[in-house]
Amino acid sequence: MPKLLIKKFILYLLCLTLLSSCENPRQSDNLSVDIIIEADHILTMNESLQIYENSAIAINKGKILDIDSAEVINQKYQSNNRISGKNRILMPGLINGHSHAAMTLLRGIADDKSLIDWLNNYIFPLEQEFVSEEFVRIGTKLACWEMIRGGTTTFVDMYFYPEVIAEVASSCGLRALVSSTVSDNETPNAMNADDALLNGQDFIERWKNKNSLITPILGPHAIYSVNLQQLQNTRKIANETNTPISIHLSESQFETQYSLTNYGMTSIKALESINFFDGLTIAAHVVWPTDEEIPILANNKVGVVHNPTSNMKLSSGIAPISKMLEAGVLIGIGTDGAASNNDLDMWEEMRLAALLQKVSTMNPEALPAIEVLKMATVNGAKIIGMDNAIGKIGIGMTADIIQISYDDVHHLPSYDIASHLVYVTDEQDVINVIIDGKLVMHEKELLTIDTKEIEDDVLYFADKIKKSIENN
Ligand SMILES: [Zn+2]
Repeated sequence: MPKLLIKKFILYLLCLTLLSSCENPRQSDNLSVDIIIEADHILTMNESLQIYENSAIAINKGKILDIDSAEVINQKYQSNNRISGKNRILMPGLINGHSHAAMTLLRGIADDKSLIDWLNNYIFPLEQEFVSEEFVRIGTKLACWEMIRGGTTTFVDMYFYPEVIAEVASSCGLRALVSSTVSDNETPNAMNADDALLNGQDFIERWKNKNSLITPILGPHAIYSVNLQQLQNTRKIANETNTPISIHLSESQFETQYSLTNYGMTSIKALESINFFDGLTIAAHVVWPTDEEIPILANNKVGVVHNPTSNMKLSSGIAPISKMLEAGVLIGIGTDGAASNNDLDMWEEMRLAALLQKVSTMNPEALPAIEVLKMATVNGAKIIGMDNAIGKIGIGMTADIIQISYDDVHHLPSYDIASHLVYVTDEQDVINVIIDGKLVMHEKELLTIDTKEIEDDVLYFADKIKKSIENN
């Protein structure tokens, strides 16, 4: 090729490169992200409880990539999923620290009973007759529908057939810590505690670090249903496999009496005596800790999950939340199962938690709104050992985020966000839900759940239960 032609060709290539870099410089800077979501207020729930006004979040590959004014975010990023934020609040998704999701199928089946009467004469016999993989699949789907609709993005579950719970939760796009339940008694999927622990090990092996939404854990039911030796065995397996434990603890006066009679100690002390708290423990209820036991919970960093509705409905008592918080106990919040609640509404739990402490201590300053919000978000994440990833909004955190509308009349006027979220907001105000960076509810439309199919399945199963009750 003649020299002149080569020079011309090189010049031509140079021009092309220059032209392509000069062409619309704004668009080439404009990074494409999965979701851009705006809000009038972004409640971060970080250490300084920072609130961003008129801002937006850029979400990409499951994480929060950026937070800034809506103007800056819209200049820096582009997305096919852009959600506006007029009259809306963004906050971390709610963490339901204690549930029995599939029990939605037993919603309202035996109300107005004491815990032990309710368990022994109603729930356990019904479970013996009906709980199957099909029951758990349908009930858990119903619960996932209800939880996503209400802004719950993570739940800690304890029921039977954990494999089914894990499959359903992950297919619905919900984050879950799923317990493999341990009991001395025969359960629908285990003969006894030895069998249950073998199942548990198997479940952990199959699900640990396999799915970004599912964490397999162990769930010894309670000190009155699992003996101390088996509780010790459960802790050993949990520590060997680096797995958290979820347990019902100090829930009723019956439990305290049982522990005193059988072990000569109240239940928290009995568990400490076998080093049960030597590892991540999520303890549901803790209604009756003695003054000597509260420091045991704090010193061992036991995460307490408060279930106000269930405790009131079963007359279990009022958990001394303010007292435990003062002593440095880490506290989250949960709904318990729908058979003792009877819904999975975390907003109601938050509201009741605040009100219950005020009336039981006769101190209106007890458990302020912002403390309750921490229980449902950042502290909920701490008690399940996930505070590095979820529970607050910040760059690099996993995107488990909900958007609340305050268009409804009950939000008019609005002076204080935390006050509105705890004392006014209900499930109907939740508009968008993002879990693991994926939109699972968009403008109230559920994207991962076929609600009609679930409704049909639930009605079919409820009919079977009704007929059996009528024939007995
Ligand atoms: Zn429970």
